[in-house]
Amino acid sequence: MVFTPQQLSQIHTCLVEAEERLSRFYRFAPREWFSYSYDLLTVRDLPAALTFPVAGVLAEVVKGPSPSTTRTSFPFGVESLYRILLFDRNILLSMERLPDVRFDRFMLYILTHELIHIVRFTHSVDFHLPPAAKTREEKKVHALTGQVLESLDDRSLGRIARLYSTSGEYSL
Ligand SMILES: [Zn+2]
Repeated sequence: MVFTPQQLSQIHTCLVEAEERLSRFYRFAPREWFSYSYDLLTVRDLPAALTFPVAGVLAEVVKGPSPSTTRTSFPFGVESLYRILLFDRNILLSMERLPDVRFDRFMLYILTHELIHIVRFTHSVDFHLPPAAKTREEKKVHALTGQVLESLDDRSLGRIARLYSTSGEYSL
């Protein structure tokens, strides 16, 4: 179960929108660091032998370059410090449980969330937090994601924020 080419294209559009919204939110200069500091990878870009995480893990931010990835979908930079991994199957299965949520809105939420992690890792937050601090950071990032996307006035996004910030079932 992998993203279709059409879904990949939607993801790319969502990524651009998430970057733009965050640039405004954090008042970054246009494309200040987004273009070189991370890559976005989906299952197609990852080695086949990789063991994928349990069902509730939708996405993950990984630090450091990985020579084993081929990076075909979204080649932003050779020396990117962070990588956002999207777990196609877990995202698509999770979507089946949210019939009133549009795919592009769901992806916008996930990508905005992951980019906020990267902004915070870059500027203030230690990548390796102890578990309690990690839980607090996760809640904070969900709250910020809600603020960044607030102007869309989309109820389904608010529902996602609540669902994902209060349930231990999911992680992103
Ligand atoms: Zn998170």
